Amino acid sequence: MPQLSRRAFASALPLGLIGGSLLGGGLLGDSAAHAATQEAAKAPVAVNPLAQIRIGRFTVTALTDGYADMPYDYFPGRSAPEVERAARAQFTARPSGVRFLFNQYLVEDGERRILIDAGAAGSIGQTGQLPQALTALGLQPDKIDAVIVTHMHQDHMGGLVLGGKNNYPGAELYIDRRDITHWTDPAKRNGAPDYLQTSFRMAEEVVRLYPRLQAIDGEREIMRGVSIVDLTGHTPGHIGVRVEDGGKSMIMVSDMIFPVVHPAATDVFFLFEQDRAAAKAMRDRFFPRAASEGALIAATHMPFPGLGRVVADHGEMRWQVADWALQD
Ligand SMILES: [Zn+2]
Repeated sequence: MPQLSRRAFASALPLGLIGGSLLGGGLLGDSAAHAATQEAAKAPVAVNPLAQIRIGRFTVTALTDGYADMPYDYFPGRSAPEVERAARAQFTARPSGVRFLFNQYLVEDGERRILIDAGAAGSIGQTGQLPQALTALGLQPDKIDAVIVTHMHQDHMGGLVLGGKNNYPGAELYIDRRDITHWTDPAKRNGAPDYLQTSFRMAEEVVRLYPRLQAIDGEREIMRGVSIVDLTGHTPGHIGVRVEDGGKSMIMVSDMIFPVVHPAATDVFFLFEQDRAAAKAMRDRFFPRAASEGALIAATHMPFPGLGRVVADHGEMRWQVADWALQD
């Protein structure tokens, strides 16, 4: 009879004998038990990435809901081979497209907790990890005081609803009025392509389930040091959030910047952008301003934690990843 490997020997045992107290109880010799323990220790541990920075009195925590790989032909203004080539050069190419992260940001000052965006919640790609990320911080969704949704695309508001219910029952919800109007308009919905129908359906659900929804009109402060920035273009009511205190600031720009194609060019778009002239105008205005200010930027779809700056490099705009730890 051929000698059985240790693994084959283990797999031949009745299930109840592998692991658990029976294993430690002397049914297997000490060395076999030790080997089995080592096997278990090798199992990969799932980690929810977290990154924290300080902005004055605020702690900002980057959390991610997951990722999706966006097909190379989702970027109007460039051919699929052009996008793929650029993605390869930046090591963000995957077999089925450009790797997009879905980053959210939790802003806390010891008194209030504000979540910026709620993630795709499984509606696209490998997403739905935001609840676990919050749990890793010891937070349940009902401990969130406010949610700011930067625009009503499914990947930014999906997590607002879980199992047909309001998933942040303790929160005020802030969304720009222009987006609420657009995404709840039946005529707009009827005229929209299939790939936007999920966002229209979610928008209707969010408005129905969040009686504490506050429509935002223009730039204003949500609390001291947290204010809305008008970044219309990607959607009619696309907004950013500026967090500012003690001479430091960060601006969460949501879908202002997409991996690979931005900020180098403004004549390249993402498929979901319905008004390309407006999207281009938004980036033409913002990128030079961000570069001259050296503003610290947080962007939803950039590699985790999505923190960086737009820098002008010999007349070319490029994304410069920001250090986020041990920099004070
Ligand atoms: Zn997005």
